[in-house]
Amino acid sequence: MSIDSILIIGGGLAGFTVAQNLRTRGYTGQLSIIDPEGIPYDRPPLSKGYLLGDKDALGIELAPAAWFAEHEVTLVSSTVRELLIEPLGVELSDGSQLLADRLVLATGGTARPLPVDGGDLDTVLVLRNRDDADALRAKLRPGVRLAIIGAGLIGAEVASSALHFGAQVTLIDPVDPPLVPAVGEELAKRLHEMHTQAGITLINGAPNRISRTVDGHLVELQDGSSVECDEVLVGIGIIPNAELAQAAGLANENGVLVDESQKTSHPFIYAVGDVARVKTSDGTLLRRAEHWEHAMNTGATAAAALLGQELPVHGASWFWSDRHGTHVEGTGDMNAPGKTILRSIEGQPMAAFRVDDSGAMQGAAAIDGGLTIRAARRIIDKGIVVDPEQLADPGIPLKKLAR
Ligand SMILES: Cc1cc2nc3c(=O)[nH]c(=O)nc-3n(C[C@H](O)[C@H](O)[C@H](O)COP(=O)(O)OP(=O)(O)OC[C@H]3O[C@@H](n4cnc5c(N)ncnc54)[C@H](O)[C@@H]3O)c2cc1C
Repeated sequence: MSIDSILIIGGGLAGFTVAQNLRTRGYTGQLSIIDPEGIPYDRPPLSKGYLLGDKDALGIELAPAAWFAEHEVTLVSSTVRELLIEPLGVELSDGSQLLADRLVLATGGTARPLPVDGGDLDTVLVLRNRDDADALRAKLRPGVRLAIIGAGLIGAEVASSALHFGAQVTLIDPVDPPLVPAVGEELAKRLHEMHTQAGITLINGAPNRISRTVDGHLVELQDGSSVECDEVLVGIGIIPNAELAQAAGLANENGVLVDESQKTSHPFIYAVGDVARVKTSDGTLLRRAEHWEHAMNTGATAAAALLGQELPVHGASWFWSDRHGTHVEGTGDMNAPGKTILRSIEGQPMAAFRVDDSGAMQGAAAIDGGLTIRAARRIIDKGIVVDPEQLADPGIPLKKLAR
């Protein structure tokens, strides 16, 4: 059966990439993206350049308005409140219905609320969309006392950006150091230490209550201590926006389950980006990824699958993060069984490689080491076994070992 119409629900990077790839791959049928946020925009700058004011709303758009007209991609500024299965389509928040031959769920995630008393106060800040970034920026002024709960990727980036406004930042996390699963113990430690060096107060603890005070907030911790602050931002990850899929009876397990072609348990509905979670053909449930490149890759895969084309091969996963003037990158799986080999300069770990018992690299992470990670990615994808001594030697460019 030919496909004449496709509806993409959610216009973040994943949904936009599906549309873009469908057109470049030759799809000429009807194509719409439904999203209350309008023109798709990029999220990583929300904690970096956009928050700092270096980029404006136009500067973070994934494509200008003219692109959508030129490529005949209709932007429907609305929220989908229900998936319709027979006939296939969606119901929008105003009650109107749109029907299509195929649906793509690209609804991303919602900032996870802190599960404690006061965690749902409407004055507690989160950072997931442009409005959140605008609200946060409006609070950042010299001397403002900002408590950030969660020192993972977004919490750490906001902490770093907030210093540029002269904020007094306290970063609270029950794990010390955070990010070990992403970059390994040694780099995680070094990254965490950068906060103190930059003048941020680090607290290793778990909040158990947030309350309003006359002039701000009080964050109480499980050990009985507390932090008085003006503003509180919670950055403890996301909850996938899978309610639509769940209500429609699609398989779901901390994300909408998809196969390797991003197809859900319904043969005509696909899911991509942060909301999707792959269950492989042998039944293995993969970890749901929440990274920029993953959103793009899954979008490209779904577009190919929708058109019955060969699926693109993406290789090892990749992410980056920026804080305190440094650039962090990671690829593959730093949690894989095996050992970690460090590459250090003057006693400071710059890169960490996770190597399994056979000597094959499974993961790598680096601080200010983009080229190292690019080479590590090639080593992982090609299954090259690298001599551990050479791996640890900062005098040997990794790309030499990737040949
Ligand atoms: C502040 C911030 C910084 C980040 N920094 C980095 C980074 O440095 N490196 C990195 O690798 N990754 C980073 N990420 C992660 C990366 O941006 C995400 O993985 C990516 O945006 C996921 O894309 P997505 O399209 O799946 O979801 P989203 O970008 O969340 O898009 C989902 C869209 O769906 C829409 N939607 C939801 N429900 C409905 C509905 N019912 N009807 C219609 N539309 C709906 C939403 O409005 C939203 O626009 C960052 C994320 C944030 C928030």
